[in-house]
Amino acid sequence: LFVSFEGIDGSGKSTQARLLSDALKRAGHDVILTREPGGSPGAEEIRKLVLEGDPDRWSAETELLLFTAARRDHLERTIRPALAAGQVVICDRFADSTRMYQGLRSGDLRGLVDALHDLMIGQEPDLTLLIDMDPDAGLARALGRGGNEERFESFGGDLQRRMRQGFLDLATAAPDRIQIIDGMRDVDAVAREVWSVMAEALG
Ligand code: C5P
Repeated sequence: LFVSFEGIDGSGKSTQARLLSDALKRAGHDVILTREPGGSPGAEEIRKLVLEGDPDRWSAETELLLFTAARRDHLERTIRPALAAGQVVICDRFADSTRMYQGLRSGDLRGLVDALHDLMIGQEPDLTLLIDMDPDAGLARALGRGGNEERFESFGGDLQRRMRQGFLDLATAAPDRIQIIDGMRDVDAVAREVWSVMAEALG
């Protein structure tokens, strides 16, 4: 089973991915927790290239190619082997993040994102947990814990709002795959809902 977590910066998805992974392990499942950009040695190197330093280092199109290359490596080296071995794969961000971040960051590149996805990736998670969050609250959280502030700020509040709506629109378009979870509640309440959605998916 391939499960992804999605949401804007500061939505709490990484915390929820870790809690779900721990809970599944305690229940006896064989789980790997991985993340994007990154998740394989090569993709982690690409992560550094795109996330560290000047946010305008790459054009929007080049950045999209780098994210796609990272995802392809992550799929080949980490995700597919784990699925083939029968593991539950929990991934902190996957292609929906690229649909939003690279798709909306500079103009509207969503057509190009989808074309590249079809050409080079062609795989969706079985289940995506969208942790929905107010962008102002999310940004405050994300800035509070550090990270590349320049990059967060280059996104701006308006982009975060468009991405939040964009994620909700993706969920409307793919209701069987994407479950919306209200991330504005405390960590435990969110984790309980994540667990109940997961329990249903596991059958
Ligand atoms: O999810 P995480 O906090 O690890 O993401 C790291 C940074 O990468 C965030 O600032 C996020 O906005 C950015 N990102 C991006 N495009 C993606 C995925 C993440 O710009 N497709």
